[in-house]
Parts: sequence; C-alpha cells; structure tokens
Amino acid sequence: MRILITGGAGFIGSALIRHLIRQTDHEVLNLDKLTYAGNLESLETVADSPRYRFVQADIADSEQVAATLAEFQPDAVMHLAAESHVDRSIDGPAAFIQTNIVGTYSLLESVRSYWLGLDAERQAAFRFHHISTDEVYGDLHGVDDLFSETTPYAPSSPYSASKAASDHLVRAWLRTYGLPVLITNCSNNYGPYHFPEKLIPLMILNALAGKPLPVYGNGQQVRDWLYVEDHARALLKVVSEGQVGETYNIGGHNEQKNLDVVHAICALLEELAPQKPAGIARYEELITYVQDRPGHDLRYAIDASKIERELGWVPEETFASGLRKTVQWYLDNLDWCRRVQDGSYQGQRLGAL
Ligand code: NAD
Repeated sequence: MRILITGGAGFIGSALIRHLIRQTDHEVLNLDKLTYAGNLESLETVADSPRYRFVQADIADSEQVAATLAEFQPDAVMHLAAESHVDRSIDGPAAFIQTNIVGTYSLLESVRSYWLGLDAERQAAFRFHHISTDEVYGDLHGVDDLFSETTPYAPSSPYSASKAASDHLVRAWLRTYGLPVLITNCSNNYGPYHFPEKLIPLMILNALAGKPLPVYGNGQQVRDWLYVEDHARALLKVVSEGQVGETYNIGGHNEQKNLDVVHAICALLEELAPQKPAGIARYEELITYVQDRPGHDLRYAIDASKIERELGWVPEETFASGLRKTVQWYLDNLDWCRRVQDGSYQGQRLGAL
C-alpha cells in the first residue's frame, strides 16, 4: 500500500511511521506543516528508508495537497494532523478551529476529488482513516461507565469540540459523497518522543531538573493510558482490515488517576535515576498542586471491546511496563529533549523545505 499520513512529524504520527517502515512494506508519505509540535528528529531512525518521503504542507492548502495526492497516488490517507493540546486550545482556540475543522474539511475535499479520479477498483479499495480522541464524548461520572462507539458526543474544551466537529464532517463525507472513511477514537497516548508539554514527559523532565511537578486541582482526574506503539499497531489494523463507515474505540485498559501517574513516575525515577538534583531528597517532594484547568473532565475510560473482537487487536503494554519503558527512553534520550526544550529542533524546517 501507499499511505499518505498527515501530521506524521507529531507524537502519534511519528510512532505510526516508524512502525510502518519497520514492520511492513508499505510506502509512506508524511505531509506535515511542522508547527511547534512537528519534529522531524522523531523520524531520524527511518528517514533514510527509500519507502519514506516528507512534504511540508498545511492540510488546508488544497493546491499543495492536491498536487501531493496526484503525484504520490495513495491507496489510503491516515489523518493525524491536528492542534492537540487542550491547554493551548483554552488560551487560543482559533488555531484549533482552523486546523481541526477547516483543515479537515479542506483535506476531505482534496481527497474526495482525488478519489473520484481513481478507477472503480482503486476507488473501492481506497480508505480515509480519521484519527480522533475519546474526549469527544465529554467525561464520565459513574465509576464503572465506559465510552463506547455509540456514546453521544458532549465535548468540553475547544480542542475536543473541534475534534468532534471534524468527526462529524468525516461521517458526512461518507454518507453524502460515499468517500470510504474509518474513524478511531483513542484515549491518552504516552511513550517515546512525546512533546514535553504533555503530562508524562513534563513530569519526568521537571523532576530531573528539580523543578515543581504541577498537578491540576486535587489530581483525582482519571485517564485511560494507551502506549503509543500499541496505538500504532491498532491504527494499522484498522486501515487494513476495518469496515468502511465504522468507528473503533482504542484504549489501553489502564485507568489511572493523574496524581497516581505522577507518583509512579517519581518511584521509577528513584530507581532509574537515583542521582537527584541538589537539595532534593525524594522526587515526590516536587509535587505541587496548581489551580485546576477550566472545564477539566473528571474521568475518561474506553470500552475497546469492538476492535478487540472484530479486528483481534489487544494492547501489549500494561501501564507499569509502558511507563517503565517511557521513563527509560527519556533518560536515554535527554539530547532529543534538550533540543525540543531549547527550540533547536525547529532548525529542521530549513532542511526540510
Ligand atoms: P501532535 O500535536 O504531537 O502532532 C500533530 C502534528 O500535526 C504535528 O506534527 C504538526 O506539525 C501537524 N500539524 C498541525 N497542524 C497542521 C496542519 N494545518 N497541516 C499539516 N500538519 C499539521 O499530536 P498527536 O498527539 O500526535 O495526535 C495526533 C492525532 O491523534 C490528533 O488528531 C489528535 O487529536 C489525536 N489524539 C491524540 C491523543 C494523544 O494522547 N496524543 C489522544 C487521542 C487522539
């Protein structure tokens, strides 16, 4: 297959591309605008493959997207490009509306006109796979409730509202125009190459630097954690074997309170990085409670039984094994982190143009 991936320089997109290049024979084209969240250094281990190409483009630039589609002739488009950080969406929603809603609309139109130009056999085999979030469902208040594929949408933040809108657009492009789409909604991802503004890498790097570990509110919010490499395997299953028009929820069976995640990171660092910054006896001393995020969802939890039953996917990592791998990865890749934190990773843009 030839697969065009949008947002392939981001956290999940880069894990997906590393997986596709290492584990399959597929050809991959990564179309990414390289916002602050795009980092080509996350793809260094596969960038020399003859089956990998990169194009710097905005999904909303229909001329450049059309030219890329015409030239690459993909059999599938996997759409991961998005503005993805909830806190940024609260401070500045405009970019979220632009990329997640207008950008997805524009991409759907570019892909539809490319798809209409394919012969009947290739049209039938073509897939547009939209990658979304469980945050579209809002939050859960019952302890045993789980989000399923039929849970009504009730997004809380500008981020989740923009993703919900994009999911609706994708479904409409199937219903109205017949574009063969698939949607996946997944829980919080974690793992290697995660941008250090997100909870787990932020806590690891702050702890190593002897900086406060900021916990929102009382830290009792529950999230389900999915190891990013398990997610990449699930995405490949869905694009290859999923039923057109279906939605699949992807989760890790790893519900954790935010505060417990921070404690678990501190405990792993005690073991793996016992040499602490000056003046710190235990990493946990650095935990600091900060004012809760407005509209903060209390609990997310995913029922992933449909993808398990229909496509035979199950997560391989437990939270304990995945978190250990993640903490070790950050300890082994402090140079990658330093280049993200000091902004030097953005120099790659010039090289990529
Ligand atoms: P990310 O922020 O790490 O990466 C997003 C990528 O998209 C970046 O490389 C960025 O440069 C690119 N991009 C942004 N705007 C673009 C545009 N207009 N045109 C082209 N490229 C653009 O995001 P992520 O964590 O890898 O998430 C990928 C997808 O998965 C997103 O759609 C997100 O909503 C969804 N998702 C993420 C999580 C998670 O825990 N990270 C959970 C559920 C769903």
